Amino acid sequence: MRTGQLFRPSRLQWAWRAAFLKPHPCAHRGAWRGMHSEGGPYRAVIFDVGGVLIPSPGRVAAAWEVENHIPSGTILKAMLSGGEGGPWMAFMRGEITTEAFLQEFGRHCSEISETCVPVGSFFSLLTGEQVATQFPVMTEAIARIRAKGLQTAVLSNNFYLSNGKSFLPLDRKQFDVVVESCLEGICKPDPRIYKLCLERLGRQPSESIFLDDLGQNLKAAASLGMHTIKVNDPEAAVKELETLLGFTLRTVVPNTCPVRDTMKISRDPLEKYLRDLLGTQTTGPMELLQFHHGQSNPTYYIRLADHQLVLRKKPPGTLLPSAHAVEREFRIMKALANTGVPVPKVLDLCEDSRIIGTPFYLMEYCPGLVYKNSTLPGLQPSQRQAIYTAMNRVLCKIHSVDFKAAGLEDYGKHGDYILRQVRTWTKQYRASETSTVPAMERLIEWLPLHLPRQQKTTVVHGDFRLDNLLFHPEKTEVLAVFDWELSTLGDPLVDVAYSCMAYYLPPEFPLLPGLSGCDLTQLGIPTAEEHFQEYCLHMGIPPVENWNFYMAFSFFRVAAILQGVYKRSLTGQASSAAAEQSGELIEFLSDLAWEFAVKEGFRVFNEMPATKPSRRSYHVWAGPRPLPSTPGTRSYSSLPESSSAHSSKAALVISPESLPPRARELYRQLEQFMERHVYPAEPELRSHQASAERWTPSPLVEDLKEKAKAEGLWNLFLPLEADPEGKYGAGLTNVEYAHLCELMGMSLYAPEIFNCSAPDTGNMELLVRYGTEEQKARWLLPLLQGRARSCFAMTEPQVASSDATNIESSIREEDGFYVVNGHKWWISGILDPRCQLCVFMGKTDPHAPRHQQQSILLVPMDTPGIKVIRPLTVYGLEDAPGGHGEVLFEQVRVPKDSMVLGPGRGFEIAQGRLGPGRIHHCMRLIGHSERALALMKARVKSRMAFGKPLVEQGTILADIAQSRVEIEQARLLVLKAAHLMDVAGNKAAALDIAMIKMVAPSMAYRVIDRAIQACGAAGLSGDYPLAQFFAWARALRFADGPDEVHRAVVAKMELKRRS
Ligand SMILES: Cc1cc2nc3c(=O)[nH]c(=O)nc-3n(C[C@H](O)[C@H](O)[C@H](O)COP(=O)(O)OP(=O)(O)OC[C@H]3O[C@@H](n4cnc5c(N)ncnc54)[C@H](O)[C@@H]3O)c2cc1C
Repeated sequence: MRTGQLFRPSRLQWAWRAAFLKPHPCAHRGAWRGMHSEGGPYRAVIFDVGGVLIPSPGRVAAAWEVENHIPSGTILKAMLSGGEGGPWMAFMRGEITTEAFLQEFGRHCSEISETCVPVGSFFSLLTGEQVATQFPVMTEAIARIRAKGLQTAVLSNNFYLSNGKSFLPLDRKQFDVVVESCLEGICKPDPRIYKLCLERLGRQPSESIFLDDLGQNLKAAASLGMHTIKVNDPEAAVKELETLLGFTLRTVVPNTCPVRDTMKISRDPLEKYLRDLLGTQTTGPMELLQFHHGQSNPTYYIRLADHQLVLRKKPPGTLLPSAHAVEREFRIMKALANTGVPVPKVLDLCEDSRIIGTPFYLMEYCPGLVYKNSTLPGLQPSQRQAIYTAMNRVLCKIHSVDFKAAGLEDYGKHGDYILRQVRTWTKQYRASETSTVPAMERLIEWLPLHLPRQQKTTVVHGDFRLDNLLFHPEKTEVLAVFDWELSTLGDPLVDVAYSCMAYYLPPEFPLLPGLSGCDLTQLGIPTAEEHFQEYCLHMGIPPVENWNFYMAFSFFRVAAILQGVYKRSLTGQASSAAAEQSGELIEFLSDLAWEFAVKEGFRVFNEMPATKPSRRSYHVWAGPRPLPSTPGTRSYSSLPESSSAHSSKAALVISPESLPPRARELYRQLEQFMERHVYPAEPELRSHQASAERWTPSPLVEDLKEKAKAEGLWNLFLPLEADPEGKYGAGLTNVEYAHLCELMGMSLYAPEIFNCSAPDTGNMELLVRYGTEEQKARWLLPLLQGRARSCFAMTEPQVASSDATNIESSIREEDGFYVVNGHKWWISGILDPRCQLCVFMGKTDPHAPRHQQQSILLVPMDTPGIKVIRPLTVYGLEDAPGGHGEVLFEQVRVPKDSMVLGPGRGFEIAQGRLGPGRIHHCMRLIGHSERALALMKARVKSRMAFGKPLVEQGTILADIAQSRVEIEQARLLVLKAAHLMDVAGNKAAALDIAMIKMVAPSMAYRVIDRAIQACGAAGLSGDYPLAQFFAWARALRFADGPDEVHRAVVAKMELKRRS
């Protein structure tokens, strides 16, 4: 999928993880008043106080009575006693002093309850700050009503305090009109006080809404024509008011939504838990919302009374081991609270899964700004610069924490952080893998082989990015760093690289709008390099060379995380609806990661030290006669001896003597095996190929195969990068194998004896890389064991097959099967009776984009409909028993699980198959050439012509020199390509692969031709392997793709290169 498609605006609607709160601009008092007015017919809202704006005296009394063991209802009865003339109403009209009221009221209470009632204590509670505080929901509602241009008023039945002031614990500035009963000498439900209020507002009764908690007061208002709302619960009343006015009165918590069905949590046990935790004053209903972000750990907003909290919990369902550890998040934030690192204040960790089904923790809700867009739209360049600097500094603060002093010494293992991380994320990725992502496969192999040598240990955040920071609304100050789920002790540079990911993401990237392609200078944003340099400078560390490794690792890790999110979305466990889309991003991110891996590979390659000379030897045995056992000698450049596979990856080993010990030992063993068994067997094998039994495999080959297997000289070809654990092959790098493969190339029969021959090698690699476990069990194992052989069917007689997009064979779906029809030729190995598998390339969708039409099927050779028409010959040679066959596929039906990787992936697979596989041919061609040159030297030394040995002829000397030079050049190019494949991957080595494919067959063709010429007519005979070498080198100028195609690739790449 193209990135443009991937980032369509419709896909941008989802937020990512900890993007906390970007509050709405404050509706400042009167800011928009007079500009316009909403609210339908209503122009004013009038509020009672007790029970509406602050807790009702009745409710306060009820709680107080319980606490003071006073019979329930005493205070309420005393308030109502005496009606209009009673002490409470007289007090409300301001007719009696506080002292007189308390005396009289106390007496009434004692009469009612028949006990002494300390009314003074109740009065203090009622008027004290702890209780008499305006409900936040009402404060917000009033601000919004006024912001919409409506008037507000207080119509209060209140009283004087002992200090002579009226009791009105409210900010009077919130109201246009304040009417107090004690000042006016009249109180509700007397209609006069309502009229007074309306008069002062200048409104008709019908233009107003009145809120009160007492029915009698509301009845009076309604009889005047006012609209009324009975307030039992302030939240519910505000909702009702919203409906009447037609606009919202509550702050919509940014980035929240109603809790999604799959993420519902039990409200009642949670509410009870919170009330117990927060204390008895937490009246009113609980508001519960879910943040859009929190793909990994679901995150909720809670408002309970005047508490605003954030709850983070583990997701439901079965979880991957050690993931979603909210306990760790809680622990680190608590530990960092006093270290200068800004973190939200954590309140409580609840590990009891019975409350809401999983452990969770609570923290204070922090209002502030979260910048989700890395370009920081709407800000000045200087502000942007300051924000990036603040981000950098806060990261330095995290990495400077003395983790021992903070009690975090055991928060993570010390050392080998990245290796452990690569393993962990590989494991997590595998556990949630839903399809094969080629770049992820390459990274999984590449990362462990390129780990940084030195790693510091500090606290690492693990998910450090701009949108995990909460900024002060007015200053460029980081108020809090969120989302510590991935925090641990580890290499701090991982955080720095991670924080730079946005630089490489496009602005429309859904997870985090990036900066790629933006003019950073104009924006005022430092470049990634500057950002990193500033970090190094501030931390007092030198610049980091393997920066690309850290970037590759960062993108790999995010891709692995997203794979988990995606898998959970498939099972309905993901905490975000958008999690489903994460599947599409995995390939994009892993490709990006791989680009950095390639850059790092080139950096290592370019920084390789210069080489120095050493020795190399080759056998010169030529045919049926015993040959001198003293090897010919050559000198080559080499690096000092390396001791491990890893060191050979980091250096271009150009001599077998400089191979790491294991590869060198294999080379020595192979050399001995060739001398002891292979060269001596050549005459018999050649005779067999010329006999009537030639289409039956030679028993001698089978015998030698068993011997080679027993000596461990088996399946040496499978590159370490395709088989990192050495599960299937010998675990050699491409460079190591290049030396061994060259040695096998000394004899045409050797590769099969070591189970390293084409086309099986390419097919086995294809199965290792792309096959399902079932496909591997059925086909790979017999091939690895040498029990079966295979062929690869691509070329077709009717089309120019050097362009694989021309392939016409069809693969159609029919009744749950694939049906194959096509005409193929030059299919090497298909005539071999051991050939059980045909790796078939055909078109599943001729209308798809050009490179997505082809697919690859695994077709068992015994399927009805496969007809081998004839064997083809190369210069008259049949290459029995495998041969090169022309074959028809007619209505060949195979089960659907025979498809490799999926429909339309054929081109991609063929490229993967033919990368390393084709360079094996080049390696062998170097072997053919060495053998040809050795035969030539032996021959010209022993033959006399015109009175002197042939070796003294100037033309012969010139030919020998020319051949040596050409072999050397080609070998160096083979080794360079192999080395680049090891350190930077097959894709990065594409140019070098194309160059050597262009060079090696022609070079071998020339060297062998000179050798044939020097050997005289014998060179063309069956006594020497030269004629077969020659035919094969010539054939490889097609078989491996025509020279011209490789030349075209090289030229195209060359023209693309910067001069
Ligand atoms: C010994 C041998 C073994 C083989 N084994 C297999 C096998 O196992 N499986 C399989 O599927 N195939 C096999 N092949 C076939 C081989 O892959 C094809 O021959 C090769 O891909 C070329 O295709 P073609 O023969 O159709 O040539 P065409 O595509 O018809 O090309 C003919 C010529 O056109 C010219 N040409 C083509 N493209 C360009 C270009 N871009 N620029 C300039 N000139 C160009 C070249 O001179 C080329 O030689 C084998 C071939 C040989 C000789």
